[in-house]
Amino acid sequence: MKVLVGSFTAESNSWNPFNHKLEQFNIGYDDVVGKNMFCEDIFKENGIEAIPTIYANGGANGYIEKSSFMFIADKIIDKAIEKKNEIDGVLMFLHGASHVLDLDEDAGELYILKKVREIVGKDIPIAITMDPHGNVTESYTELANIIRCYRQSPHWDREQTHRDVAELFVKLLKNPKNIKPEYERVPILVGGSRSVSADEPMNSINNLLDKAETLEGIMSASYHIGYSHADSPLCAAGVVVVPENDSYQSLASQKAKEIAKFAMDNKEAFHFTNYTVEPDKAVEEAITTTKKTVFITDSGDDATGGSFGYNTLLLRMFLERSDLNNKKVLFASVHDPAACNKLMNHEIGDYVSFSLGVAIDDESQQVIINGNITAMGDLNTFYAFPHKIGDTVTVKIDDTDIYIVVANHLTAFREVQQFEKAGLDYKDYDIIVVKQGYLYTDLLELSDKDIMALTPGITYKKIEDLEFKNLIRPIYPLDKDAFK
Ligand SMILES: [Zn+2]
Repeated sequence: MKVLVGSFTAESNSWNPFNHKLEQFNIGYDDVVGKNMFCEDIFKENGIEAIPTIYANGGANGYIEKSSFMFIADKIIDKAIEKKNEIDGVLMFLHGASHVLDLDEDAGELYILKKVREIVGKDIPIAITMDPHGNVTESYTELANIIRCYRQSPHWDREQTHRDVAELFVKLLKNPKNIKPEYERVPILVGGSRSVSADEPMNSINNLLDKAETLEGIMSASYHIGYSHADSPLCAAGVVVVPENDSYQSLASQKAKEIAKFAMDNKEAFHFTNYTVEPDKAVEEAITTTKKTVFITDSGDDATGGSFGYNTLLLRMFLERSDLNNKKVLFASVHDPAACNKLMNHEIGDYVSFSLGVAIDDESQQVIINGNITAMGDLNTFYAFPHKIGDTVTVKIDDTDIYIVVANHLTAFREVQQFEKAGLDYKDYDIIVVKQGYLYTDLLELSDKDIMALTPGITYKKIEDLEFKNLIRPIYPLDKDAFK
């Protein structure tokens, strides 16, 4: 048996003023596709030959340029056309939060699914694994037979979910049945920092999903949190329940409705998981606490959520403080390619004077920095397949105990390995400011206190204060009163 495989990831933030381009995607072909979808051995054991198309991971960024998206989509579509008569099934990872400029479907995932379904016809099974921070709508359930997203946020069940979907898909391939997932829209849009799975109400929702999956006739159940930073009618939460076959259709529908109702009944329980305060309070508390290590997340400049890591606002707030209470402060990092590349002409120990900040808005205003270079190293990515994407130069600012990691590429410091690659020991610092929303598990384990600063910026986390024009209303928490 032959199965077409492909993977496409992008989170497209409406408030990001730049378009997402092909060269910003991590692209792989051939064996990379199956390997990154964790299905190679499952296919091998079951005598299935993978037909790889493309692995394209663009992370979080702005809306995707149409030509860039079409390059990726056509790798999948053209291969589907070429191998049309050989394909027994299609297995894809489609994140769910992409938006493409001038595309009728808006979401790139929907376009890909639609085209692939058209090509292979209605009888070939299609399974998709998704990220819960993407959107799913009724249309997906008309195009794919199996839809299942990660259950845990952060996604420590990523590999397992890929494998579970691959197993379910193989079962379906061997014993073909007509399957249509059931979908229930949930008019809630709270974003990732208010839907961490170790916390409520996600923990209880996930228990219900686990329970649904033990029922006879239910293949899988998912709660899709939805993508909170795109102004699109597609954005909302949703429940998908997949029946084993059409005789369990009404059971799947009933479970989807029950779980959606539970989420709506408990909508007020969605809350910021981290201790969350306004920026000035975050700075004050980090300086005055006796705890070490304190992590502050610059949540409006969340490099994992579509922002640039450009912002200097918190740095300026720390610089204005005359007394840091003997605290050593590390900013990991500020993304400024020009400043970083200039600093790379120097060596550790050199005295440097430069301007930091790309000045595209109020938050990224320039700051004049004078100080010594204390470290130089690599900028590594995090989470899925960490690798070097750029360089870092760390500078200690004159007459202060403030250190800034200047980076020439976009990423967030989320894991210890990234500090090490940059030539830093996180334990040397009392306060570390990172470009995230909620603090990720790796750093959370190292922190004695973590504070999410509600900073302004492209990923401002109080979604109810953002101006949306295209969401389907009412939606919680934007229209709180409508649900009373
Ligand atoms: Zn996610």
